[in-house]
Amino acid sequence: MYCKNHPKRETKVSCSACGQGLCPDCMVYTPVGIKCRECAAPSKGMLRAGSFPQYTGAVLAGLVSSFMAGFVLDEMPIYSILIVIVFGLLIGEAVRRGARGNRGPVFMAIAGVSSLVGLLTSGLLLSGLYINPTGILYTVLIAGIATYRLNG
Ligand SMILES: [Zn+2]
Ligand SMILES: [Zn+2]
Repeated sequence: MYCKNHPKRETKVSCSACGQGLCPDCMVYTPVGIKCRECAAPSKGMLRAGSFPQYTGAVLAGLVSSFMAGFVLDEMPIYSILIVIVFGLLIGEAVRRGARGNRGPVFMAIAGVSSLVGLLTSGLLLSGLYINPTGILYTVLIAGIATYRLNG
């Protein structure tokens, strides 16, 4: 095995995360073993700093999923707290996937705003379903749960 950064240096040590060879110059000692520089970089910082595709993916996923959720909600004979939780989790999950698994404050904001916009848009397009106190309350609850799903 050879160092991933120095192809001429033979080594027996590999990165505990990506498994590539590491020479003594390239080893980084972490609490969970020896890693290469890339894998040792603080993952929380990387998670929080989103990329443009992650932001646009999250916004689109939030809008589309909550817009569709509004149509399904319209078919529900009654609202229940269980439905609210399920829809909140589903929209949150959609935003997470849209964000390619990223999380954090910015993505929480995206989840909250996009789910509110999506739900209210479909509500207005339909029967004005959400324009009553219960509908507004449930919409806000769904958005809140979706937001919480993106908590880092
Ligand atoms: Zn590595
Ligand atoms: Zn090296």
